[in-house]
Amino acid sequence: PIEPWHIGGPVIKGFGRGSKVLGIPTANLSTEEFSDLLLEHPSGVYFGWAGLSARGIYKMVMSIGWNPYFDNKEKTMEPWLLHKFNEDFYGEELRLIILGYIRPEANFPSLESLIAKIHEDGEIAEKALDLPLYAKYRDDPYLKMS
Ligand code: ADP
Ligand code: MG
Repeated sequence: PIEPWHIGGPVIKGFGRGSKVLGIPTANLSTEEFSDLLLEHPSGVYFGWAGLSARGIYKMVMSIGWNPYFDNKEKTMEPWLLHKFNEDFYGEELRLIILGYIRPEANFPSLESLIAKIHEDGEIAEKALDLPLYAKYRDDPYLKMS
């Protein structure tokens, strides 16, 4: 287990690379105030809990990595909330508690294999977050905004 860390802020527009079209929308957060925290943590896939404004608390899986568009100077975070929403929630407050590391970043031979891997990551996150060790953070006051 890793030391839990907390990040949050309003959901911003990402690069619109079509992750939603692939069935894996990622609610981007501004990295400005968290750049030190991000640099401390290796690139890869993490899991934890997400509090979304007054809507609720959800399991999430998040990829953290170097963004080539930023000249490899900036890391981005891309949390996918493991819940089906009927609409977008840009501008709403999103708070994350990151609890564990699943795997390092990797290259995939095809889009299909990438998507399959992300779904696998989602299943790992689903199961891990049911373990008492991680489940208890669901009640963390940091996630509650209502
Ligand atoms: P962008 O490039 O703007 O981040 P995405 O294709 O990654 O666009 O879609 C992300 C947006 O989709 C989020 O900002 C949010 O408003 C919405 N969304 C809907 N369902 C989810 C979900 N389960 N997880 C994350 N974002 C979601
Ligand atoms: Mg996104």
